Amino acid sequence: MRAERVGRDTLLAQIVALVAQAQRSRAPIQTTADRVAAVFVPAVIAVAVTAFAIWASVGPEPRLAYALVNAVAVLIIACPCALGLATPMSVMVAMGRAATAGVLFRDAEALETLRRVDTLVVDKTGTLTEGAPRLVSVQPAPGWDEAGLLRVAAALETGSEHPIGEAIVAGARARGARPAPCDGFEALAGQGVVGRVEGRAALAGSAEFLSGRGVDARAFASRADALRAEARSVVFVAVDGGVAGLLAVADPIKETSAAALDALRSAGLRIVMLTGDHPATARAVATRLGIEEVEAGVLPADKAEHVAKLQAAGRVVAMAGDGINDAPALARADVGIAMGTGTDIAIEAAGVTLVGGDLRGIARARRLSRATLQNIRQNLVFAFSYNALGVPIAAGALYPALGLLLHPMIAAAAMSLSSVSVIANALRLRSAKI
Ligand SMILES: [Mg+2]
Repeated sequence: MRAERVGRDTLLAQIVALVAQAQRSRAPIQTTADRVAAVFVPAVIAVAVTAFAIWASVGPEPRLAYALVNAVAVLIIACPCALGLATPMSVMVAMGRAATAGVLFRDAEALETLRRVDTLVVDKTGTLTEGAPRLVSVQPAPGWDEAGLLRVAAALETGSEHPIGEAIVAGARARGARPAPCDGFEALAGQGVVGRVEGRAALAGSAEFLSGRGVDARAFASRADALRAEARSVVFVAVDGGVAGLLAVADPIKETSAAALDALRSAGLRIVMLTGDHPATARAVATRLGIEEVEAGVLPADKAEHVAKLQAAGRVVAMAGDGINDAPALARADVGIAMGTGTDIAIEAAGVTLVGGDLRGIARARRLSRATLQNIRQNLVFAFSYNALGVPIAAGALYPALGLLLHPMIAAAAMSLSSVSVIANALRLRSAKI
């Protein structure tokens, strides 16, 4: 048995830190409460002073005693504890509730914004799919055999950090091929890799990548299309300017993806798939999941651009992704949603992390976002109406007609009760159905 991470580096410790940080963050709606509080405090002092002046000048005897007691009662009952608690309590409870459902929020802003999201942009590999691709087909070109092709491909992809590259290396090893040594390795994000394998110039990547480097792969186009129609990703390998063969990699769709997208669609979200993969492969996956809008062949640098374009059209966009290449888009989106199974950089850039990479968490988080905002509003209304009612009574507004006054002791009890009510209401979120 081997511990790979201990202490602060473990997943659990990171989750605890993330939740604690999120619970301390401020929701934008709190600004409203703060703005009101800024007016509220001087207003209450003014009411207390006015009540004192009126009681002291025209009140019954002992005038000064009445004036003092009533002014103090106003100050006590108006203590804006409930107002101050309204937002942070709900946020804290909601964050805890979300964590138990496998959804980690980075901050309260993400929690508040999520309910307004009307468009979900979603990455394919590792987000909709398992992100654990396997090499399923090796098709050498004439003059090549499987072992030779795999030797070159594995040599090139050994340096690659892309999951497809890793799948090719693992697949080659499983088929008994040993990667040859490779010099001058260079990876072009989202396109392919180049290097010198045993002194020969070698390339691996998309057909466009090859043709951009003067390799004609058109003879293999129909074979590649047939593989893509089965949702396979195809990698071409070329040596010394000629195609050596093609490799197909399959990445199964997560079991939960279809249900997750159905739930989001029925909640009225527009779903757009954004992937660097070939259009034919992307469409095969999209068809299986009922996604109509597909942007394929998107270079990593352009993902954020697509999100920005949707935002410019007035959409409130959530982006779900797992890779380093998704990070800029995750940061650009109104709410970034990272897969907990994905890269640290994606998690760092996102406002929400789905622990097991289960996309059903998005619909859950959205429902929780709604419930939380509703809860905060209830709290605020409660705290305000409580003061609107309590302050005039404490000032003695009912005294001339009913002879009713609020003893400072009763005011103190009522004030505490208002805070308790706000806390109790916030705690209801713990059992919210999401
Ligand atoms: Mg990905």
